[in-house]
Amino acid sequence: MVTTTGGPRVLLRQLRETMAEPLASQERLDKIVGLIADNMHTDVCSFYVLRDDGALELFASKGLAAESVHMTTLRLGEGLVGLIAAEADVLNLDDATSHPSFAYRPETGEERYNAFLGVPVLRAGQTLGVLVVQNVARRHYGEDETEAMLTTATILAEMIATSDFANLIKPGSDIDLRRPRMFTGVSFTDGIALGTVVLHDPRVVVANFIAEDTEVEKLRLETALEKMRVSIDVMLDHGDMAGPTDHREILETYRMFANDRGWVLRLSEAIDNGLSAEAAVERVQNDTRARMLRQTDPYIRDRLHDLDDLANRLLRVLTGDGHALAHKALPDNAILVARNMGPAELLEYDRTKLRGIVLEEGGTTAHVAIVARSLGMVAVGRAQSIVSMCETGDDIILDGAAGIVHLRPTADIVQAYADKVRVTAKRRAHYAALKDKPSVTKDGVGITLLHNSGLVADLPMLDDTGAAGVGLFRTELQFMIASKLPKLSEQTELYAEAMAIAGDRPVVFRLLDIGGDKMLPYQRSMAEENPAMGLRSIRLGLERPGLLRTQIRALLLAANGRPLKILVPMVTETFEFVRTRRLVDKEVERLRRAGAPLPSRLELGVMIEVPSLLFELDQLLPLADFVSIGSNDLVQFLTASDRANTRVAKNYDPIGMPRLRAIRLVVDAARRYNIPITMCGELAGKPLEALALMAVGMTRLSMGPASVGPIKELVLNVDLKPIQQSVGAALSDGADGVAIRQLLEEWIVRQNLPV
Ligand code: PEP
Ligand code: MG
Repeated sequence: MVTTTGGPRVLLRQLRETMAEPLASQERLDKIVGLIADNMHTDVCSFYVLRDDGALELFASKGLAAESVHMTTLRLGEGLVGLIAAEADVLNLDDATSHPSFAYRPETGEERYNAFLGVPVLRAGQTLGVLVVQNVARRHYGEDETEAMLTTATILAEMIATSDFANLIKPGSDIDLRRPRMFTGVSFTDGIALGTVVLHDPRVVVANFIAEDTEVEKLRLETALEKMRVSIDVMLDHGDMAGPTDHREILETYRMFANDRGWVLRLSEAIDNGLSAEAAVERVQNDTRARMLRQTDPYIRDRLHDLDDLANRLLRVLTGDGHALAHKALPDNAILVARNMGPAELLEYDRTKLRGIVLEEGGTTAHVAIVARSLGMVAVGRAQSIVSMCETGDDIILDGAAGIVHLRPTADIVQAYADKVRVTAKRRAHYAALKDKPSVTKDGVGITLLHNSGLVADLPMLDDTGAAGVGLFRTELQFMIASKLPKLSEQTELYAEAMAIAGDRPVVFRLLDIGGDKMLPYQRSMAEENPAMGLRSIRLGLERPGLLRTQIRALLLAANGRPLKILVPMVTETFEFVRTRRLVDKEVERLRRAGAPLPSRLELGVMIEVPSLLFELDQLLPLADFVSIGSNDLVQFLTASDRANTRVAKNYDPIGMPRLRAIRLVVDAARRYNIPITMCGELAGKPLEALALMAVGMTRLSMGPASVGPIKELVLNVDLKPIQQSVGAALSDGADGVAIRQLLEEWIVRQNLPV
């Protein structure tokens, strides 16, 4: 028996020696708990490991009855040990038996012990087990003892994660680290992906946990902190980061934390206890993550996230892991997992290997979600805390439509999804077979199906879906993914390429719709309280005509004598459309003078997505060549509910009576003025909603490429006239209270429609 005292540093040295000895796992653990008890002068030291069935199994003990090891279990939340694990928090009691959660296990002989100190064994914010010391005498353990226990727990966590403990655990169980987990987030795109986790921000692997020389480690920490502080200052002062305010805010928060005396002190204390500088960062980071998981206030959770990111940066400086792009060599069926990421970062990955992405943050209309959709990737957002729960290499399944993520799925879940994928593949083959059939309803109404697009990469899909063209080309995507403002020549090249791929099929190029949630990383902008209602889109374009004129010029040059369709977004009053037309005219005139070929036909369309325009249709429509309804924004503004805020965005049915009446108003007006009208918001790609649109007379629908097959199938099977009559009657005055959705559901059943 080793009887040593001498504080945590001595203990850690002994632990290191024990880990290096050629011992069997159980022997090693027995020796470790003995060392802890001796070093801390306690009668008991016990180590519990959390199993995948949620039970905490006693793995080793000095002091409790030997026969209770691997026999005694407590459920999460049960007893003091269960409470520590469930709350990921320390429990320090003079008289444990009087605590309401005390659960007596006769086989352990535990009732004799009064003083109790238990700490969670944490790794990456996950509870892996609990470490406990007990004394017969009533006493209060000091802060330094708690700290020593937490330090030791850091080492034990690493042992659980890296040693083969599975052979010690009760047969049929596994350690909790590999437990399957399910996350319910929000759907960014439809589709199912089975693959392998790749952490966008890979965890830094700490190899050296125990300090050889405390002073050396402190110096390493100080040097790394200084280096990190300087790099944050450089980023803050540097022009590149002068873009979106949230980037700046995050950096300001980093700077604040990096200079936070409390944080630095805790790091330094962990080194005093015998940890290496990087293990000290990880030890303090574990607390942050555990607090993060417990935290319900989203603001505080975000700040803890920032602190966690900062700790990662510090670890990289310490370990010399420069966050190289090595992780960009992806396995097949890679699924990226990140707290958040920008579209440009997503595009840096090898797209041939990438099947999907999961984010902890983000809204359905976030840039990265739009890009993921354009690339046909499966994407789920708002999967809370997933980053700290997974490791690169874990199996993962994304159920895009349901917004569900299965991490380390069980065999039956894998089977169920593999079956689903097979069915989906069959359905896709079925849709592919429809692509050359004319898109006409059973009663002879032609419905033009078009793509929403934005990247050249997604245009070849026109051939696969048989769509008639591109109803909405979001030109801002090129700007969002570039590292600096695209030049005239770059814009021209992209538009020309898009037209070349589309061939005879028309492409509607929407003028830059930036601002709101679509900020450009390289552009200086004023912070706005409500960016969705701020200086965005055509408002910005008209205020900075240089940018707009360059884009118009690029479009005219790209057309190179071919027909050209330009769409003006976010028009709020007719004068904005008129001013845009004047700019287009000026550019045409410029081109004519230069002797360059003019578009054989130039059409300028208006987007209806701000409600105000609904009451100016008779002034506006005679001036426009075509109309396109943007239901995403129109519904957002009609209902005063942020489209990216999941707490309100689903409160109002977009095809509820008032919204559908608004849409019908525009359809009727377009018919009066005999100009084509298209729906290019998300509604057009959803079968029931598309049926509502056709029911009010809409015959041109533009949607994500993946939706074309299902909508085509619907078109081919529907008898539209009776539905139009029934919806028309419901929408007419005096019929309030009728639920359009319910009415359509009844028609779907009656006509046995594939919805
Ligand atoms: C819309 O608002 O419906 C639309 C198509 O535009 P975006 O989603 O790009 O704002
Ligand atoms: Mg819009």
